[in-house]
Amino acid sequence: MAHRKAYYEPEKNGHPPVIPKTKSPYSLKELFSALFHQDADSEPRLEIQFSSIFNFPYGLFFNYGRSGLYALLKVLGYEGVEVLIPAYTCVVVANAIVLSGNNVKFADNEPDHFNVSPEMLASYISSSTKMVIPTPLFGYPIDWKRYENVIFQKAPGAFILYDDAQGYGLYDQDDLQSTHTDGAFFGLGEGKVISSIYGGMLLLRDRSLYEEVKAYRDREFHTPNSFKCVKRFIYGLGYWAAYRTLVAYFFDYLNNKTGLLDSLKNDRSSPSLPVDTKERPTNLQARLGRLQLGRLEEIMEERRRLARLYERKFHEKGISFFSSNGKPSNSHFPCLTKDRDLAIGALRRYGIMAGYPFLKACPDLPGYEDYSGKYPNASLMAKKLITLPIWHGMTESHVNHVVHSFMRCKDKNPDIF
Ligand SMILES: *Cc1c(COP(=O)(O)O)cnc(C)c1O
Repeated sequence: MAHRKAYYEPEKNGHPPVIPKTKSPYSLKELFSALFHQDADSEPRLEIQFSSIFNFPYGLFFNYGRSGLYALLKVLGYEGVEVLIPAYTCVVVANAIVLSGNNVKFADNEPDHFNVSPEMLASYISSSTKMVIPTPLFGYPIDWKRYENVIFQKAPGAFILYDDAQGYGLYDQDDLQSTHTDGAFFGLGEGKVISSIYGGMLLLRDRSLYEEVKAYRDREFHTPNSFKCVKRFIYGLGYWAAYRTLVAYFFDYLNNKTGLLDSLKNDRSSPSLPVDTKERPTNLQARLGRLQLGRLEEIMEERRRLARLYERKFHEKGISFFSSNGKPSNSHFPCLTKDRDLAIGALRRYGIMAGYPFLKACPDLPGYEDYSGKYPNASLMAKKLITLPIWHGMTESHVNHVVHSFMRCKDKNPDIF
């Protein structure tokens, strides 16, 4: 408290000193509109709209991105097959692969970057790799051309599935990065760039594969009862409310003081999938997905603008965090510290709610003990990386406040930052 008072100088427009780490990407108006203006064909319309934006002929909507991955692995008939993913990623990807009856192979990142470089890819891929999941994290593009070369040389014929959960719309010169892949999947759940409360989209290029996955989904995934729509709506309200500034501050405070929410952070003891993984999404989700998609460009533009502001302001202070070989779209603003937990605590004293990325060094988690300790760079990223607030509606003075606070913390605690 004392620090914050000492530092905080109210500005002309007088925004409060507390800055949440994120905000729900949909507005209350959109949420209510999705509830009251549903149409029966929202899902197929969302699939068409989504696939055309990302240049794919076919799309399939699921409750989660991982549901699409799981269904795809099943339909491809893979059993005991090697699927290559980053070691530092969202562990649900690894879980879906393992639970579909297949084997994950992890690739480490470079010490100074969270993305897997083409050189690292080359050292883990082999002719037994049947699927590769290139994953641009935090909206930072991968080096697509060189990825492609490595895959074609070392694992020709491997299925290339782009994990676009954080990569919404990354370009290489003029092409979308996913343009040359067999498929891509997106997340529309909590914490994603756009959200349908829960949701995931699988995009495919091959017609007969699409038809098979669609048939599999329609056969194996059950339709929830109509009460589910109300449940999703209520959850959606909660998600929206949880990131209002004061509510978010309250939870953050509670968590910090009491550790009450720690159980939510803890990882389950073995890989599992949520019970509704094989449930069809409701119409409400599809409708909300369409409303959000209509604003995607605007939301991304805003994030890019804020990220460039951050970069410029940090650059003026002589700091740059991560290089990029293209134009990032910043699903997050990642930065490196020397100690993640202490850095987040220090920033909290200035009213800045920095985020723990939900990405993990998967080899360090229960269920992946065989790989434990063999991916030092992924383990380091997991210990050192935090994300700074970036959300639609943030102002330049918010960004100033974050950068200023970060620099104050760094000056006071050089061993943490
Ligand atoms: C969120 C996320 C996923 C999974 O999405 P779900 O919809 O939660 O299954 C996969 N990969 C990355 C990088 C993610 O951020």
